[in-house]
Amino acid sequence: MLGAIEAGGTKFVCAVSDEDLNIIERVSFPTTTPEETLEKVFHFFDTYEDLKAIGIGSFGPIDINKHSKKYGYVTSTPKLAWKNFDFLGEMKKHYPLPMGWTTDVNAACLGEYEVGSAANNDSCIYLTVGTGIGGGAIMNGRFVEGFGHPEMGHILVKPHQKDDFEGWCPYHRNCLEGLAAGPSVEKRYGIKAQEIDADHEIWQILAYYLAQALVDYTLILRPEKIILGGGVMSQIQMLDLVKKEFTTLLANYVEIPDIHSYIVRPSLGNNAGIMGGLLLARKSL
Ligand code: ADP
Ligand code: ZN
Repeated sequence: MLGAIEAGGTKFVCAVSDEDLNIIERVSFPTTTPEETLEKVFHFFDTYEDLKAIGIGSFGPIDINKHSKKYGYVTSTPKLAWKNFDFLGEMKKHYPLPMGWTTDVNAACLGEYEVGSAANNDSCIYLTVGTGIGGGAIMNGRFVEGFGHPEMGHILVKPHQKDDFEGWCPYHRNCLEGLAAGPSVEKRYGIKAQEIDADHEIWQILAYYLAQALVDYTLILRPEKIILGGGVMSQIQMLDLVKKEFTTLLANYVEIPDIHSYIVRPSLGNNAGIMGGLLLARKSL
C-alpha cells in the first residue's frame, strides 16, 4: 500500500492506494498550524498498517537539497507557523518508511508526466496559477533542480500597457505571481477573481503575463508540453488567451509542437498532485 500527501498552503490532501495506484481512501482538511495539521495526517495514515512508502508534495519554498542540513524543511514561506519547519523529519519520526519529498508542483508535474497529459512525452512543465504561481519541470524522467527547486512563479515580467497595478508579491512586488496570481485580481478590483466576467480585460492582462513566462520557460527548457492548472485557469477563456499571446510573443523564433498540444490543461485535473505523490512513494521503494 502507498501513501501520498499533497500539502497545499490552503488545504492538505492525504490518500492511500494499492501498488497499482488505485486510490483506496482520500481525505482533505485545511492547512492550520504544523502540529495540528500533522496530527490529522498521522490520524489518517495510522489506520493503514501495511503502508510501504509515502510521497509528499509540499507547498514551499522547501529544501530538497540532500546535502543541506535543512533537507526536508519548509523554508522561507510567508506562512509563518511553517517557516523552518522540519516537515519530512516529523514524518520520518512517526513512520520509519521510505519517503519521497518534493514540491507540490513537482508532484503534480510527475503525475501528469507518468499518467496524465504528458504520458507520451519525455519532458513537460506543470504550472499552477492559483493563490500563488508555481511550476515544476521534468526532463527525461528527472525533476529539473539543482541547489534548490525552481521558483517559476517569481520571474520578472514587463507590465501590460493598460495595467497600473503595483503587484503584491512580498518579496518582488511585481513579479509574475505578484501580477497574475488569483489574489492580484481581487486586489485590483475588490472582488474575487471568480466573480469577474469572462470578457473583462483583466483576463487579457493576466494572459499577457502568463504568456511571457511561458515564452521564457520555452526558451530555457524547450519542453514538449506545458500544462496549466490552478483556479485562475478554470476561467475557460484563459487557455486560448494565453496561447494567442504566447504565439505573438514567441514570434516563431523557435519551433514548438502544435500549440494545442503544447499548452494544455492537466488531464488528471485536481488529482495531478496526489497521483504524483503516490508515484513518488512508489519510486522511493
Ligand atoms: P490554491 O492555489 O490555494 O491551491 P486554487 O488553485 O483553487 O487554490 O486557486 C485559488 C485562486 O484561484 C484564488 O485566488 C481564486 O480567486 C482563484 N480562482 C478560483 N476559481 C476561479 C475561477 N473560476 N476564475 C478565476 N479565478 C478563480
Ligand atoms: Zn515574487
